[in-house]
Amino acid sequence: MATINQNGTAQIRDNFTEQELKSGSWDAPESWELSDATLDALEYLRQWSGEPIVVTSTLRTPLHNASVGASSSSQHLTGNAIDFKWADPQVHDEMVGKLRQGIVCSGEVDGIVWSTLYERLGGKGGGFGWYETFLHIDDRGEEGDDTIMWDLSNNKYDQFNMDTQFNREALTDVDYCGGAPQEGKKKPGLLRVLESIFGGGKYSEDGALSFVDRLITYLMVLFLGITATIIYKKTKK
Ligand SMILES: [Zn+2]
Repeated sequence: MATINQNGTAQIRDNFTEQELKSGSWDAPESWELSDATLDALEYLRQWSGEPIVVTSTLRTPLHNASVGASSSSQHLTGNAIDFKWADPQVHDEMVGKLRQGIVCSGEVDGIVWSTLYERLGGKGGGFGWYETFLHIDDRGEEGDDTIMWDLSNNKYDQFNMDTQFNREALTDVDYCGGAPQEGKKKPGLLRVLESIFGGGKYSEDGALSFVDRLITYLMVLFLGITATIIYKKTKK
């Protein structure tokens, strides 16, 4: 694990400093650990592309995680995950296209980029999430595991004929690219809010709740808080 100090300025990898990798959570600890394997994978993607990458999320505290409606088992809670995008939106789309074309419809991965990523993640597939404006990578799993992949890009990248069905466990699944591209299946907002509070939602790593979903979350937290206060006051009497 690499130690990240929220106020630090150290160079953590050739192309990433502590400031670029610091947690975006308002209640983040001063110092915390970020996965070396995930960092190596990120640095590899930066070098492979030759283009600047912006990190959009690393460690998330439980409070921050719940407020964005992300899974309570999110890899961001343990410092295993990094969300990122290429700084230039056009470059981003181009790189996403290249990555997607590296997945062929026999259910195999093709191309040096995926085999190198597998290696960088410690000989295990880790987790890889496709979103409309960013990508997610983490080093979950055991050595020899396949890559777990999910696609919430909502058909943005359909031209690469990647099945956008939510929760697809990729790369060993022969049906991975089968048939016409499907509409990305996002779970209903309320279900994701409940999952973020009470658990579940293995693949809804990155939440991205709508305004209405967020409002429901805040109201639920408020309601639970008031209920707890009333019960506490009554038992005190
Ligand atoms: Zn993520």
